[in-house]
Amino acid sequence: MKNTRHYLDNSATTSLDARVIFAMHQFEKKYYGNPSSIHREGQEARARIDFARASIAQFFGAKSQEIIYTSGATESNNLAIQGVVDYHLRHKKTRPHIITTELEHHSVYNVVKQLKARGAVEATFVKPNRNGLITPDKILKNVRTNTVLISVIFVSNEIGSVLPIREIGKLLTIHNSQLKSKVLFHTDAVQAVKFYNCNVDKLGVDLLTFSAHKIHGPKGIGGLFVKTGTKLEALMHGGSQEYDLRPGTQNTIGIIGMAKAYELLGSLDDRQKNAEKIKKIQKLFLTSLLKNNRVILNGPTGDDRAPDNLSVSIKGIDSDTLIAKLDLAGIAASTGSACVSGSTEPSHVIKALGKPDRRAAVLRLSLDIDSKFVKIL
Ligand code: PMP
Repeated sequence: MKNTRHYLDNSATTSLDARVIFAMHQFEKKYYGNPSSIHREGQEARARIDFARASIAQFFGAKSQEIIYTSGATESNNLAIQGVVDYHLRHKKTRPHIITTELEHHSVYNVVKQLKARGAVEATFVKPNRNGLITPDKILKNVRTNTVLISVIFVSNEIGSVLPIREIGKLLTIHNSQLKSKVLFHTDAVQAVKFYNCNVDKLGVDLLTFSAHKIHGPKGIGGLFVKTGTKLEALMHGGSQEYDLRPGTQNTIGIIGMAKAYELLGSLDDRQKNAEKIKKIQKLFLTSLLKNNRVILNGPTGDDRAPDNLSVSIKGIDSDTLIAKLDLAGIAASTGSACVSGSTEPSHVIKALGKPDRRAAVLRLSLDIDSKFVKIL
């Protein structure tokens, strides 16, 4: 009997694209030098990671020198937030204030919580409405005189909410132009790059987090867009790589794979066409799941929801049992963020929707262009 698997956990990670593997393989065979070395082998590797930098920069409408390679989105989020706070603490006398949301990935949420618990910052966590959405004015109305940073996720990895980054960016630009001190704007765009316009000028962001392994690139590589003139401190100390913001020999093979993965995402038009195709698969799952009266949808509907995400609560079963049953039936799914699997508590994101039912399982299905509909319940 053929053992068909349905991999429906593409927000946790994706398979490596064969063209990415090929690009990485070709590179590593030839360009193994350390990009900081001044001999030919080093300089050849350097030229290729800088070419990759230019190509990734183009995807985001940024300048090459505004792209900092990191070990992934977790590090990028830490660098963005802690870097801005550390710079402020070193150069200014006031305690900084950060605005973020209850929809953030743990690599933003827990960083801000830690900084607050240590007394390093004041922080506001903006709650979404019952549908998992936040309006721009709900963010902006929390700005104080000591606010230094606003960090808002672009697309929720758990419930698929698409947040109004562009509109927040516009309002913040107006706000900043009326003030002497500048409030910086960061977005975690890890789950957004697949379908949405991530041009940094259009979004009005100073800092933007991205990674590779959610778009069929390798794990352990990501980056942070840092707009020219944005002041932040490095998290680690060592060599002067990555414009003094991220010491350590670059993950050259990962960088080549990441650049290829971004190239393969194609134009915005291509990505929007993919979004339309995936939306049709999403609809099949949604219609089928919502026929069951034990199921309720978590998060928004329509264009406010990313086309690849489905998150539902299912009464009468616990999450671990459900995921194990689905796995045995050949379906790889998750309860939400892979970073907290093992926890029996509903996540802070589900709790923020205001209706957590501890006896209900949370099921997240995250689709890809080649996902096939399969009956879940
Ligand atoms: N932000 C978002 C929105 C994510 O989905 C993830 C991955 N779950 C991360 C950050 C962290 O990425 P990584 O584990 O690659 O550091």
